[in-house]
Amino acid sequence: MSNQTVIAQLDALREKINDYNYQYYVLDDPSVPDSEYDRQMKALQALEAEHPELVTPDSPSQKVGGQPLGAFEQVTHEVPMLSLDNGFDEADLTAFEKRVQDRLKSTASIAYSCEPKLDGLAVSILYENGVLVRAATRGDGQVGENITANVRTIGNVPLKLRGDNLPERIEVRGEVFMPREGFEKLNNQQREAGLKVFANPRNAAAGSLRQLDSRITAKRPLMFYAYSLGVVAPDSFILPDSHHERLQQLANWGVPLCPDIGITEGAAGCLAYYQQILTRRDGLAYDIDGVVFKVDDIALQHTLGFVARAPRWAIAQKFPAQEEMTRLLDVEFQV
Ligand code: NAD
Repeated sequence: MSNQTVIAQLDALREKINDYNYQYYVLDDPSVPDSEYDRQMKALQALEAEHPELVTPDSPSQKVGGQPLGAFEQVTHEVPMLSLDNGFDEADLTAFEKRVQDRLKSTASIAYSCEPKLDGLAVSILYENGVLVRAATRGDGQVGENITANVRTIGNVPLKLRGDNLPERIEVRGEVFMPREGFEKLNNQQREAGLKVFANPRNAAAGSLRQLDSRITAKRPLMFYAYSLGVVAPDSFILPDSHHERLQQLANWGVPLCPDIGITEGAAGCLAYYQQILTRRDGLAYDIDGVVFKVDDIALQHTLGFVARAPRWAIAQKFPAQEEMTRLLDVEFQV
């Protein structure tokens, strides 16, 4: 293939994915199913891997999410909010563990935090002296939208942390999502009122959270589960040195966690967790599109570091697509 042909292919893929991103992240109105999006992104990544000299910093493979909506005040994240690398099969998971071990120059067994990959929106919630002072969307990873008034209406988000030994500032990160039961109820209400129904819980959560009128958000059955930390100050504040224990610390302060998180050893343990959650998937109270594995030891996470848009110490192992193209195209929905 000539260089010109490759450049033309790259341009076409990037333009297509940029359009999908705009629809999904900015308008909360996806134009294709996630599986189709993932296919196009994989094609782009494969072509870029063959031609690393043609990777541009503005390629969607290098960027997180979408631009924040101008309607909201903007928030600059002190610690960027990144995405996750994706794995789709067992080989991707074993390759991930091998990359981790190679980089650590060790074949020792690694402990992983195992977490359902909730299908909602990533949100950052900042507490100062235990009091919720600001909440923001991930946006493009560097700059998000100030949605404090909306997040304050979510029933299980503590407005004040419990306990005495709290850091001066702590940023709790997690997912805002709509549990399935609430989603069904909301769509029934919409139907009865002659309004458009939402295509899926993720779309309903995104549309509900990014409302300019927080009274509307307050009526929507949203929930929040924490899965990581951002900024913590002062630097001298002592936190546990494992990710899993940090999450337990958050729980002690009253922050809600997903009840199905776990901890395991090695890629084999991750696979067993994957299978177990996949089997339970239909019976869970919330929608997930996979599971996330994170190297549990914070010191190892620091050694591993980040690439452009994702940490090297985590992988999102996606489940087979559940959705149908028809589901997206046949159902009219609003945001
Ligand atoms: P991602 O969804 O692959 O992974 C990162 C996100 O996972 C985080 O930002 C967070 O919101 C979420 N998450 C859930 N549980 C988590 C946990 N326990 N720990 C850490 N993070 C957790 O990445 P992305 O950049 O948000 O989105 C890419 C994906 O979104 C695509 O693979 C595709 O499925 C979907 N998408 C679809 C379209 C479309 O047009 N249909 C467009 C863009 C993106």
